[in-house]
Amino acid sequence: MIKIAMPYSKSDLPTKICPVCQRPFTWRKKWADCWDDVKYCSERCRRRKSTSQ
Ligand SMILES: [Zn+2]
Repeated sequence: MIKIAMPYSKSDLPTKICPVCQRPFTWRKKWADCWDDVKYCSERCRRRKSTSQ
């Protein structure tokens, strides 16, 4: 079993509101290194934001 340093417990994960779909999304392990830069809940929303203008 691999131990990964998790600063947050599972029930206390940070969340953000996606500016595209206005829905809250929760911290994911893949964002561990770039959570501060994450703005959208998904790749789809990120593309939608950048292509709709
Ligand atoms: Zn979204």
